[in-house]
Amino acid sequence: MKSEFDICIIGAGMAGATIAAYLAPKGIRIALIDHCYKEKKRIVGELLQPGAVASLAQMGLGHLLDGFDAQPVDGYALIQGDEKTTVPYPPDCKGMGLHNGRFLQKIRASALLNNTVTQIHGKALQLLENDRHEIIGVSYRESITSQIKTIHAPLTITSDGFFSNFREHLSNNQKTVTSYFIGIILKDCEMPFPKHGHVFLSGPTPFICYPISNNEVRLLIDFPGEQLPRKQLLQDHLDTNVTPYMPACMRHSYEQALQEGGFKVMPNHYMAAKPIIRKGAVMLGDALNMRHPLTGGGLTAVFSDIQILSAHLLAMPDFGNTDLIHEKIEAYYRDRQHANANLNILANALYGVMSNDLLKTAVFKYLQCGGVNAQESIAILAGLNRNHYSLIKQFFFLAMFGAFDLIRENSLNITKASKILVDAFAIIKPLAKNELSFAAVVSGYFKK
Ligand SMILES: Cc1cc2nc3c(=O)[nH]c(=O)nc-3n(C[C@H](O)[C@H](O)[C@H](O)COP(=O)(O)OP(=O)(O)OC[C@H]3O[C@@H](n4cnc5c(N)ncnc54)[C@H](O)[C@@H]3O)c2cc1C
Repeated sequence: MKSEFDICIIGAGMAGATIAAYLAPKGIRIALIDHCYKEKKRIVGELLQPGAVASLAQMGLGHLLDGFDAQPVDGYALIQGDEKTTVPYPPDCKGMGLHNGRFLQKIRASALLNNTVTQIHGKALQLLENDRHEIIGVSYRESITSQIKTIHAPLTITSDGFFSNFREHLSNNQKTVTSYFIGIILKDCEMPFPKHGHVFLSGPTPFICYPISNNEVRLLIDFPGEQLPRKQLLQDHLDTNVTPYMPACMRHSYEQALQEGGFKVMPNHYMAAKPIIRKGAVMLGDALNMRHPLTGGGLTAVFSDIQILSAHLLAMPDFGNTDLIHEKIEAYYRDRQHANANLNILANALYGVMSNDLLKTAVFKYLQCGGVNAQESIAILAGLNRNHYSLIKQFFFLAMFGAFDLIRENSLNITKASKILVDAFAIIKPLAKNELSFAAVVSGYFKK
């Protein structure tokens, strides 16, 4: 049966709207479904690493960052006690700090400008299957009428975000909550280093900040554990683990924001991509794969996935051959694993490092030394270096550096030095096992 659409996209969020904006001008007929097209105030996806900015530019969508007060970011600043250091992004590379809701509205508007996109207001309910258990579309409840309707397409993209309803049919994975982020906006705040992402390491748990408009800074405070913090616990956490470590230049804006209240709290998930490959459907975005947001790697992964999936789909003459679509989906899952492994491992490994006193000090001193190791590390964080060998090498250099530094300070530190190495190995091993193959690391060595 010939369908009215080539692709049905469930979820017009960062992933769904962006792939629609990219594919629609190329003549692909898209049904884009979401239950809410209003601008939301979210604390997610507000720092685009240079890798994400570069992907947007490569897709011809770089202009979507213009006109809503997005702020260029030149690199990272680390602050531990009285010591401060900065690590610039590679030359000619910039990140962007922005209001996610404003950015998403621009992406959606760009997608909806195309007459190849049909906007559907509704909540997707169920994937439709034929008698061969192939997915042939989706049923949804239309927002205005509450009627149940169906859309048929040879390919359904499920990009319904981190609470995905469709994940269980298309993926093997279990998600885990690593910690929570408490999001606060600081108005008219002077950061120690303008145009930089900041990581504050002085307290027992990390907090980060970056500009999201010309007079607003997003502060994200980590709250460790799997349980949503209750109000009193949250207040105690701020009083004990954050307020004393807030730099003087930020304190006034911070205290004002605390008085105004209205913070948002979001869970931070880790979920490696373990897709079940089924004919007629493919997963994109947080529905498929999540990592800790400490490194702001989410949208770098999302945009990179969009480029990979689109390149495979655009290589087909049309959407008439379901076997060929299936081959392209397999190729996408294979290629994206390699492209995103560094982002996924680094995000959760760095979170492990920041939660470990010895490793936290080691990472600060390691980056403070500057030079090629700091440059290679920041290029991995920026999503520009996807070589697995580089990542594993830098992680072990860091652990060795920390161990030798402790022994250099005092030869009696041998126990602590061994602990650093054991802890580093314990952090990286399960992540590498989930995300990498030995062959991929070895081939990275020859490609470096
Ligand atoms: C606290 C936090 C901070 C983060 N900070 C950053 C950062 O600074 N930089 C970065 O790069 N990444 C960051 N991320 C990650 C990043 O935000 C996500 O990877 C990205 O938003 C995922 O996009 P998505 O399209 O998969 O999901 P979303 O953008 O959440 O979109 C999902 C869409 O699906 C729709 N939907 C859901 N269910 C249905 C349904 N049944 N029917 C119809 N529509 C439906 C929703 O309405 C929504 O529009 C952060 C994540 C967290 C948790």
